[in-house]
Amino acid sequence: MKRILSLSAIALAAALVAAPLFAAGQQASGAKQLIVGIAMPTQSSQRWIQDGGNMKKILEERGYKVDLQYAEDNIDAQVAQLENMITKGANCLVIASIDGESLTNVLEKAAASKIPVIAYDRLIRNSASVSYYATFDNYKVGVQQGSYIVDKLGLKDGKGPFNVEIFAGSPDDNNAYFFFNGAMDQLNPYIKSGKLVVKSGQTDFAKVATLRWDGATAQQRMDNVLTAFYTGANVDAVLSPYDGISIGILSSLKSVGYGKGGKKLPIVTGQDAELPSMKSILAGEQTHTVFKDTRTLAKRAANMVDAVLQGKDAEVNDTKTYDNGKKVVPSFLEIPVSVDITNYKEALIDTGYYTADQLK
Ligand code: BGC
Repeated sequence: MKRILSLSAIALAAALVAAPLFAAGQQASGAKQLIVGIAMPTQSSQRWIQDGGNMKKILEERGYKVDLQYAEDNIDAQVAQLENMITKGANCLVIASIDGESLTNVLEKAAASKIPVIAYDRLIRNSASVSYYATFDNYKVGVQQGSYIVDKLGLKDGKGPFNVEIFAGSPDDNNAYFFFNGAMDQLNPYIKSGKLVVKSGQTDFAKVATLRWDGATAQQRMDNVLTAFYTGANVDAVLSPYDGISIGILSSLKSVGYGKGGKKLPIVTGQDAELPSMKSILAGEQTHTVFKDTRTLAKRAANMVDAVLQGKDAEVNDTKTYDNGKKVVPSFLEIPVSVDITNYKEALIDTGYYTADQLK
């Protein structure tokens, strides 16, 4: 009898090791599903649709119930969505903010209900209630954009002077400053030496920022710059921080004859490897983009969700850079990839991010 008992005890122990009793997203007590609220900024940009979709899929596979919401770049709508998630009993919130400074109050409510918060891609500022931050190396994104212009113009070989114009992202998005600083650290030495000339004179972040990353706003500013400063001159490169902005800039350039009759389109950078921009790159219009694999970031954030809900530490690789005004948020920075016509196949098709057909 004793022997039989101990054998079944061994069998039970083995079963416990072989298969966990519940998935990550289920609580031990009656296997109740844990709820993860995901707040995304907008569906107007392809990347956020992919981010949200990828994360929902991964978290559902891990046993969580997912409440995925998009706020169409409306700050009040995002706050309302978060309040609603808290009321409906979310156990964890993953947030890509619209305005990184506007969530302080709603996150106090989350903290009062002991709901951990993960900042997704964009840092949430002025709140001590952010557990982790999953993002890319944002400074490096800017370096890749700026150094692409430096390399393509041959500035290191002493070529120049060339005309360049500068665009930055949304002033309410912490990332925009990192992209801008990374890029300007590459361009500034040449602006100082006179090998790069900004004919508009507009180089301050506040002057070149584009609220809500809006392509139409960028197009309007490019129209104004071309009219005021480029009569009888050509622009050779445009620093653009995001594909949607690049497309706006290109529309403006094309409307005054660039890309036709010997008037070459300038080098135009970008970010996100969105489909319209990839097609533009293949058509020889946009020149460059930065690919940030949303699958990798979604998985990183899902791992952080698992960790906070299991009371464990999440893996991070940066504990210095992202001071949000209340704390330095422990972060994981994924690696961005600089992409142009020469390497898009290996970066985007070989990795299965797009099929060759999608780029046609
Ligand atoms: C993201 C970029 C994106 C931009 C506009 C930033 O916060 O990091 O990938 O291009 O927002 O959506």
